[in-house]
Amino acid sequence: MLVTMKALLEHADKNNYAVMAPNVYYEMDARAAIMAAEEMKAPVILDVCFDTSPDVIEQGWYFRRLAEQASVPVAINQDHGTDFTHAIAAIRGGYTSIMVDRSFLPYEENAAQVKELVKIAHAVGVTVEAELGHVGSAKDDPDERKKTFTKPEEAKRFVEETGCDCLAVAIGTAHGLYKGTPDLDFDLLKELKEALKIPLVLHGGSGSGDDNIRKACRMGINKVNVCSELLQNIQLLLEETDWRNEDIEQLWPNIMKGFTMRLKELMVISGSAGKSWTEENKTGLSHKKTVFGEEKDAPHFI
Ligand SMILES: [Zn+2]
Repeated sequence: MLVTMKALLEHADKNNYAVMAPNVYYEMDARAAIMAAEEMKAPVILDVCFDTSPDVIEQGWYFRRLAEQASVPVAINQDHGTDFTHAIAAIRGGYTSIMVDRSFLPYEENAAQVKELVKIAHAVGVTVEAELGHVGSAKDDPDERKKTFTKPEEAKRFVEETGCDCLAVAIGTAHGLYKGTPDLDFDLLKELKEALKIPLVLHGGSGSGDDNIRKACRMGINKVNVCSELLQNIQLLLEETDWRNEDIEQLWPNIMKGFTMRLKELMVISGSAGKSWTEENKTGLSHKKTVFGEEKDAPHFI
């Protein structure tokens, strides 16, 4: 069932858990994400970067088609849109949410651009995620990153001024894979949740540590973005299964398996497993056999 991200996050906020938002690039990983969600009876967000396809609009409508068939609630979010045209293309592509990331700009410009796109997106029922403070890269110096943590008073003003539906906050995570496990500022998270009272988003979920993610999701994080860790898990599984010396056609099923294995674990850690709230009686994607599944000769049309 295709839903807005706002609907997903409001349910998560009310019930104190987080929805997993894996980055997806193609049909295969989008299907894997939805199939993992169906198996875990969890809502899920397909997080799609604007540059994963040369045709954002066609790709968006394809993801919508998958989401509409799902037996669990699915939102489609543009991850890190950094330009006005990215947002408009995503809306035309049928995304149910856009991230308007202007965290690299000074406060006033960030707020002004988010506010403008909130007005446009809300007019057509699309959810808006913004970012204040700056999450940054795992390659950056942790002490330097601390300087860009989200400030509660400023964030409160930002949410009131822009009308954004959810906010990505900088509390110690970063994009990419860390050396070791990062320290998260849970006191800051508590302050932010009390000040903002809206769903909060954790970027850089990969490698943040299961205990950190579990705790953050019980303290007000309602969406966890993950990418590198899923790709790394695919790599590890391929190395383990030695697919080069086995049937080369096992490459695609193993890629999907590596992706779903870790995503399903994260759905348990984030508390979203078992939280599907769709009442529609859809059969979902999981029952459909495709060349990516085990029964290759079964029909894969819908
Ligand atoms: Zn991010």
